[in-house]
Amino acid sequence: MNHSEHTLPRKSGLATTALHAGRRMTEERENSPALFLNSSFVFTSAAQAQAIFAGSEEGNLYSRFTNPSVMAFEERIAALEGGEKALATASGMAAITTIFLTFLAAGDHLVMSRSVFGSTTTIANTLLAKLGIKTTQVALSDLDAWRQAITPTTRMLYLETPANPTLELADLQQLAQLAETHRLLLVVDNVFCTPCLQRPLELGAHLVVHSATKYLDGQGRVLGGAIIGSQKLLMDHVYPFIRNTGPSLSPFNAWVLFKGLETLPVRIEKQCDNAEQVAQFFNQRLSSGQLVHYPGLPRHPQHALAARQMRRFGAIVCVDLGSLAAAHRFIDQLQLATITANLGDVRTLVTHPATTTHGRLSPEMRAAAGVTDGLVRLSIGMEDIQDILADLDQALARVAS
Ligand SMILES: *Cc1c(COP(=O)(O)O)cnc(C)c1O
Repeated sequence: MNHSEHTLPRKSGLATTALHAGRRMTEERENSPALFLNSSFVFTSAAQAQAIFAGSEEGNLYSRFTNPSVMAFEERIAALEGGEKALATASGMAAITTIFLTFLAAGDHLVMSRSVFGSTTTIANTLLAKLGIKTTQVALSDLDAWRQAITPTTRMLYLETPANPTLELADLQQLAQLAETHRLLLVVDNVFCTPCLQRPLELGAHLVVHSATKYLDGQGRVLGGAIIGSQKLLMDHVYPFIRNTGPSLSPFNAWVLFKGLETLPVRIEKQCDNAEQVAQFFNQRLSSGQLVHYPGLPRHPQHALAARQMRRFGAIVCVDLGSLAAAHRFIDQLQLATITANLGDVRTLVTHPATTTHGRLSPEMRAAAGVTDGLVRLSIGMEDIQDILADLDQALARVAS
């Protein structure tokens, strides 16, 4: 295949990287990426087929293994995260499951934050437990709890920061030190931040995992996932797992995500601008017994850590309105924000975690994850800020009345 690959000037900024990394051009000289919507690739001879199968010659073979559209997305997300290599998967959960099944075996122990995505906790407690892999869940920000949970069979530390939906943080540098001392793999789900706001690999994490379904697409179109890290971890370990078990990303979704990444830096900037104003609004407007969670507010308990570890504070704002009735009433009064379980969209979205994303957890587990009945999660979009604030204002007024 006569591909010319585009080379990016070294040390480009994030916006340039998002626009240029992973670009390739066929002999048709298209200026926007072609979509390779095909399952297999043609060999020029039986001998070439043999060589590519044996790995002595490079080349595409079958889209469960590699596909140019998928590789373009992988190169772009790897460049943005500052990783040597990325491998894409069909969804965020496929990426997380791939990491667990690649790096953990029967008898191994996993230490995981208790504030992780609901399905991540579910696969630890069901699939991993069934395979003889034990999990201990700890409070995200309690470094001593992480340290005490480590046993001689521990292999991996796994977390998200900031956590969903409490927006509590973990100190990634401290956890990286702990991982190094005990020779553990540190895995960070970077969905809430994206590489525009936080780069875990630079702080000592070994693997970053993404649900590309959220901010990376940003427009609510496709599912996707990615795993980013060193060439060695990805190609020696993760790649054989994906190649043989097939949680591979669809070329079409990869093509959508590749274009989605081009606007990620501008989207994130605008969404952070809006979220900061929404947090300020709630900070001034909420009455006693109500609370706003946002790492950008000086009274967030980990504001200093957030300022150090994150470039900006993200576009998720959570409010505790005091009761389930108040939360549901507020959500039902919103006109601009749509009620959906997704996040990271260009449009403002609203969710009631206690009765949706965290509804299957026991009340004790919900309490441990900080999900109170009154909590409302807002994923702030790119609408004009005065329209977002007007919508929140009228809904809040009706909760009070
Ligand atoms: C959505 C999400 C996931 C799962 O991703 P899917 O693409 O839905 O499979 C994992 N982690 C976080 C933080 C998420 O928000």
